[in-house]
This record gives sequence, C-alpha cells and structure tokens, in this order.
Amino acid sequence: MHNLIIVSGPSGSGKSTLIRKLLAVCPELRFSVSHTTRPARENEVNGRDYHFVSRRVFQKMRLRREFAEWAEVHGQLYGTSWRELRGKSNRNRTLVLDIDVQGARSIKRRFSQAMAIFVVPPSLAELKRRLRQREKKWSPETEHRLQKALNEIRGYKLYDYLIVNQDLKKAFAELRCLQVAFGRQMARNEEQIKKLLRGRK
Ligand code: ADP
Ligand code: 5GP
Repeated sequence: MHNLIIVSGPSGSGKSTLIRKLLAVCPELRFSVSHTTRPARENEVNGRDYHFVSRRVFQKMRLRREFAEWAEVHGQLYGTSWRELRGKSNRNRTLVLDIDVQGARSIKRRFSQAMAIFVVPPSLAELKRRLRQREKKWSPETEHRLQKALNEIRGYKLYDYLIVNQDLKKAFAELRCLQVAFGRQMARNEEQIKKLLRGRK
C-alpha cells in the first residue's frame, strides 16, 4: 500500500523549505523526486531535488505512460513517475510529494488514502517578498508565479489540512504533527493490534 503525503501551495509559500526540514528529522520518510523540464536553481541537485530533463525526454516518458501524473506549471512540465512511487513507497514507507493542485487532484483520485496538505503564506505581500528573495531578481517568470498564486489558492477545497507558513518554526511543528498523526492512523497499524491479540493465545 502506498503511504503518500502530498504538500502543495503557491510557489514561494515555503513548501520545499518545510519538506526539507521534515526529511532531515524523519529518515524513514522519502521524497518523491519529480521530473521537470525547468532549469535547475543554484542550490538544486539533479536526482535529489528533481530529475532535470529536456522537453523531448519528458514527452517520451509521457508517451510511454511512465508518469502517475504530470502537469504543465508556469510553462514547464513536471511529473511524478510510477517508478518513483513504486520504487520508494512500500508498506512501511511514506513518500512526500511536492506537487501542484492539478497533480494533487490526480493522485487523490488514484490513491484516496493519501493525505493532502496545503501550505499558504500569511499574505500576498509576504509571498512577493519571498519570491524576490529566492529569485534574486524580478523576472517575468517570477511575476507569472505571483499571478498564478491566486488561482492555486482557489483550489484549496481539495486538501485535508491547511498550514499558514508565517513563522517557520510553528509551521514546521504543524507539519510534523500531521505527519505523525498520519502514521498513527488505524488503517496503517492494524498489524500491531493483531500481534497483541495473537500473543493472548
Ligand atoms: P516553495 O517551495 O513553496 O516554492 P521555498 O521553500 O523555496 O518555497 O521558499 C521560498 C522562499 O521563502 C525561500 O527563500 C525560503 O527561505 C523563504 N521562506 C520559507 N518559509 C519562510 C518563512 N516562514 N518565513 C520567511 N521566509 C520563508
Ligand atoms: P518549482 O519550479 O517552484 O520547483 O515548482 C513549481 C510547481 O510545480 C510547484 O507548485 C510544485 O509543487 C509543482 N510540482 C513539482 N513537481 C511536480 C510534479 O511532479 N507534478 C506536479 N503536478 N506538480 C509538480
């Protein structure tokens, strides 16, 4: 069974920062490394943050049905491969997916037991500040990301939980609580009960 935690939110809301912190304290979690046609940012590593591929390679994979879901976001292609889902998620493994609203919708449709968390900034002004800080200079692409934020926020109903990432420490504590609660859901722990009952004989 797949244990999937989806984390979405407008670009710049702090998803990657929060996920990175979560993975650092939970070695049992695995990050689902997406494929993308967008160029790598300064601090990103191929194979760790994304599999950076050309449009041609991405389209080939898409035609071979190698993606569990894929979407065009900010003019670039992004996709979660079946290989990533199958290779890293088994009964005892939980996989964290950083995907957009379209991807979250597809994954929820296929894996209804996936937990979906929506991360938002405290305000649009703060979102703008964070995007500027990350991108260093304001480009048309950054402007596009800001414009898209409102559209993405309108997709909030799909999600099970909301985190307002104002204070990073508090937002991280909330994410950690959700992840622990997810792991304690009865459906994922029946084996423990069965073991207890077996011991009675
Ligand atoms: P996303 O993955 O959602 O696009 P990032 O994690 O890259 O966003 O964060 C965007 C920028 O905002 C980064 O420079 C990051 O350091 C900063 N950031 C993230 N969370 C906070 C926060 N709570 N307060 C201030 N800055 C933050
Ligand atoms: P960024 O370029 O800032 O890393 O990501 C842009 C957007 O693409 C974010 O909303 C991120 O969640 C989303 N994204 C990243 N990987 C995938 C993926 O595999 N599928 C989908 N649908 N969206 C993704």
